[in-house]
Amino acid sequence: MARVYNFSAGPAVLPEEVLSRAGSEILDYQGSGMSVMEMSHRSKVFQGIIDKAEADIRTLMGIPENYKVLFLQGGDSLLFATTFINLAPHRKADFVITGNWAKKAYQEAQILGDPNVVASSADKNFTYIPDCSDLPIREDTDYLYICQNNTIYGTQYHTLPNTKGHTLVSDQSSMFLSEPVDVTKFGCIHAGVQKNVGPAGVQIVIVREDLIPDDLPGVPTMLRFKTQADKGSLYNTPNCWGIYMCGLVFQWLLENGGLAAMHEKNAEKAKILYDYLDASELFHPTVADTQSRSLMNVPFVTGDKDLDAEFVAQAAEAGLVNLKGHRTVGGMRASIYNAMPKAGVEALVNFMDGFERSHKK
Ligand code: PLP
Repeated sequence: MARVYNFSAGPAVLPEEVLSRAGSEILDYQGSGMSVMEMSHRSKVFQGIIDKAEADIRTLMGIPENYKVLFLQGGDSLLFATTFINLAPHRKADFVITGNWAKKAYQEAQILGDPNVVASSADKNFTYIPDCSDLPIREDTDYLYICQNNTIYGTQYHTLPNTKGHTLVSDQSSMFLSEPVDVTKFGCIHAGVQKNVGPAGVQIVIVREDLIPDDLPGVPTMLRFKTQADKGSLYNTPNCWGIYMCGLVFQWLLENGGLAAMHEKNAEKAKILYDYLDASELFHPTVADTQSRSLMNVPFVTGDKDLDAEFVAQAAEAGLVNLKGHRTVGGMRASIYNAMPKAGVEALVNFMDGFERSHKK
């Protein structure tokens, strides 16, 4: 069976080279006589896998030595709570609300302490990134929190907020490794890997060492960053297979020019789709503000629910799948992560064009 072009927001398409390589190693990982799924996380072989994965992501992102890289479990949603538990010693953090995921992080902080909203784009259904050049950040806040790419609404920060000297904590889940990032601008970056980097079940945390508290009275062991930071993410049984797959994707990225080359490709793909949408009479991008547009998630609508449904169904028949939009936005959403080839975006635009022509009044 031929592979489809999969526009899912996550879990999402992975590079074919990576899937083939994983397939070729599934019965016998490099002479070990077993699959990575079957081996002990305490084995030398697996230690080699996780060490290489960490070294490769450090190279890719240029992660300085004073940052820890953690491979965790529990969902990126757990990090909404654990970032606050670990990084807000005074129980104060300020939030920019740009959609559901930022709101959920804020709501977790509400359970645990005293968060504050310093900006929001709720007034226009989260279709833009607010001006973050002069936010009313509290002087005694522990950090400023952003969701850097908004998977549902299709917006992305292209300039980081002015934190006024405060620590920046960012959820990069749906843009992770899609472009170069200056890690030193952040106290902590967290990401669920199931969008751009691997199968669901691993979250990567990149956190500045001095922000990791030594002691967190009353906090369970597994919720402390220090627990996994001290043990190289091997305090307990990790998602061995997931980490192995992430490692293969890191290698694929390195072999394909790294994050700068990936950014170029992603910008080119997004331009093809946005250019078409901006010129179309039938399909309209929900994010009109060009400065706020995501390179990864592109929502669009016809304005007619029945027509949207017809489009999604016909596209699926043509091998362009998972284009249905999130229920809060409606319409369609094309997620065009790293592993989506340019040919996939071109096929989508061709199909949309044909659909538009056949529905001309
Ligand atoms: N953050 C962002 C930006 C997301 O898009 C998602 C999921 O889609 C999450 C967090 C939550 O991730 P998880 O399902 O791993 O908890």
